[in-house]
Amino acid sequence: MIANYGYMDGSGEYYISIDTDKCIDCSHHGCVDACPVGMFIIEPDDYDDDVALIKQEFRKKVKYECAPCKPVSNRPPLPCIKACTPGAIGHSW
Ligand code: SF4
Ligand code: SF4
Repeated sequence: MIANYGYMDGSGEYYISIDTDKCIDCSHHGCVDACPVGMFIIEPDDYDDDVALIKQEFRKKVKYECAPCKPVSNRPPLPCIKACTPGAIGHSW
């Protein structure tokens, strides 16, 4: 399942997507330690499989919390995406 966390406002769409099917087989949960603000948490889903989520308190401000990782020019690889070797994480902006 693709889970989307974020929001839309007048300036655009700001969503982090997580392909939870990939989390089920993930051996390291690297997203948790890779994010400098600690947005990710691992919790059991409805089927009791451990998957990554974006913590509730970040869901309405992902644009602002991710800003330091996303300079306007020379954007480096995002730490969350780099750490997620199964390729489960996407950003809409
Ligand atoms: S590193 Fe990627 S695949 Fe592993 S738990 Fe985190 S989001 Fe899921
Ligand atoms: S872009 Fe940076 S702050 Fe945003 S989720 Fe990824 S690692 Fe965390």
